Parts: sequence; structure tokens; C-alpha cells
Amino acid sequence: MSGRTSARACPERTCVGCRERAAKKDLLRIVVVGGHCVPDRSGTLPGRGAYVHPAVGCLDLAVRRRALPRAFRTQGPLDTARLRAAVDAITAGKAPQE
Ligand SMILES: [Zn+2]
Repeated sequence: MSGRTSARACPERTCVGCRERAAKKDLLRIVVVGGHCVPDRSGTLPGRGAYVHPAVGCLDLAVRRRALPRAFRTQGPLDTARLRAAVDAITAGKAPQE
């Protein structure tokens, strides 16, 4: 269980897009299911997770830098359509963050 040091008040994670640290609750957790990047807004899906700001700019940066395959240690590119749709929804305010 490496990297599981728990900060007392608010745990921080690094955005895979802009590489800035932010409170975990301000970031969108991503997991990979069958080669697709899937948003995990409840933070409960099993497996390796990556974090990104729920912003198109950060998602674009992550895609351009191939940060997601690196974060998930996969070879090929990952499908981000669902992730993008979720970020779009959050950005549009249709699905307010918890
Ligand atoms: Zn970011």
C-alpha cells in the first residue's frame, strides 16, 4: 500500500493535466475499464486511479501529454470519450460536483 499516506484534513492529488496539486474532492477520479477512461465521481470504483481537474483544458493537456496511458501503465492510447462527456457535463453545470 504505497502512497497511501493520509493527510489529516484534505488529501491532495496531482492533476494529470496541469500537474498541479489540488484537494482530492476538487478533482475528478478516473479509472480504466476495458481500455476506456471512465469518470469515477463517487471515487469508489476499484483499480488504479488518476485524477484530473474537471475542466476540458486539463483533460486536453492530459491527452496531449499522453499522461493517461502513463498513469495507468497501459501501452496504447485510451478512449476518453466518456470522460470528456463527463467533464463537459460538469463544466456545463448539469451535474454539480459533490
Ligand atoms: Zn488540472
